[in-house]
Amino acid sequence: MDYDARIDAALNRLHEEGRYRVFIDIERQKGAFPRALWRRPDGSTREVTIWCGNDYLGMGQHPHVLEAMHAALDATGAGSGGTRNISGTTVYHKALEAEIADLHQKEAALVFTSAYIANDATLSTLPQLFPGLVILSDELNHASMIQGIRHGRCEKHIFRHNDVAHLRELLEGLDPEAPKLIAFESVYSMDGDFGPIEEILDLADEFNALTYIDEVHAVGMYGPRGGGVAERDGLMHRIDIINGTLGKAFGVMGGYIAASARMVDAIRSYAPGFIFTTSLPPAVAAGAAASIRHLKTDPHLREIHQTQARVLKTRLRALGLPLIDHGSHIVPVHVGDPVKCKMLSDRLLEDHGIYVQPINFPTVPRGTERLRFTPSPVHGPDEMDRLIAALDTLWSQCALNRADLTG
Ligand SMILES: *Cc1c(COP(=O)(O)O)cnc(C)c1O
Repeated sequence: MDYDARIDAALNRLHEEGRYRVFIDIERQKGAFPRALWRRPDGSTREVTIWCGNDYLGMGQHPHVLEAMHAALDATGAGSGGTRNISGTTVYHKALEAEIADLHQKEAALVFTSAYIANDATLSTLPQLFPGLVILSDELNHASMIQGIRHGRCEKHIFRHNDVAHLRELLEGLDPEAPKLIAFESVYSMDGDFGPIEEILDLADEFNALTYIDEVHAVGMYGPRGGGVAERDGLMHRIDIINGTLGKAFGVMGGYIAASARMVDAIRSYAPGFIFTTSLPPAVAAGAAASIRHLKTDPHLREIHQTQARVLKTRLRALGLPLIDHGSHIVPVHVGDPVKCKMLSDRLLEDHGIYVQPINFPTVPRGTERLRFTPSPVHGPDEMDRLIAALDTLWSQCALNRADLTG
């Protein structure tokens, strides 16, 4: 068996399909977001503007966050020193969980090392709590939810994306006595469209199902206190389990669920992905808590964020670029070909100092490859002008079509 040849063959498949991933080496400049230094493979550097980051509000450089992290680091050292059960639960973790529970107006919250782990660990553990559980999952749910549902090895049904009629049909086909859970997202990160939260909750009531929502691309950004789309729409209290990240709009790292005290106690006690791993460094927990606290009382960044997204969309539409617009803060532009998508991204970076990563299969279906822009309050008018000019030039140079795909 030639193991090296097998590895090469696997990598070559990615190259042939034009979806081999190249990581761009960047060093963000605190105080100058969204600017960063790009380190080329030859060691030279160039200043670039990041247009694809998930630090949606620039909280990764916010003074309140950095002060809290410095203070915790100086007070308590680098790591937590243990799993949550064995010496790794600190005042910082407790304070963070209290902050999150309050954000979502739930009795309790549980912090994980990432939202990926939170989804995987929670969804795979629920079938142990509810033997015979049937999970109904939106077909476009994030990889971490799919992974968790698979790991749980319970009966599952996939409903067509955002299709509540299909969801109803599936629910009607199930044993009325079986425990059920509907898993979905509030903002789908690749198209930037919203889940039909209220309709799903109505169905959950009608069929006595639990609900699990991933608000990863909404927490910090929607709702009067940054509690997400469910807060904005007055629906948080009707959702059983809310999942969020501390790594995107909150600008730090980590993930969580918020739910009833009883539910959190059970997941805390049963989920291997929570139990058998070192807890977050206290400084990270302190920074995340400071970020949540700040965004609860400061709607200003949320408002500028939405305005920035609207301005960018208006300007892209004026160029006739194939924008995918569902009214959220995410701005995807359809390219529809992995090689062209990568080429556009390379040209933007090398010729214009604009960094936007190509989004290819398996992150999105083949044929829907795209550039996904994430405007933020830290992107200035000059940066937006330069992006628009560069895209206009490149779209012509590459003879790409300008027809609008969706309204
Ligand atoms: C990024 C993402 C996650 C994972 O969040 P991390 O905290 O980065 O692990 C979960 N769900 C969705 C929808 C995401 O886009």
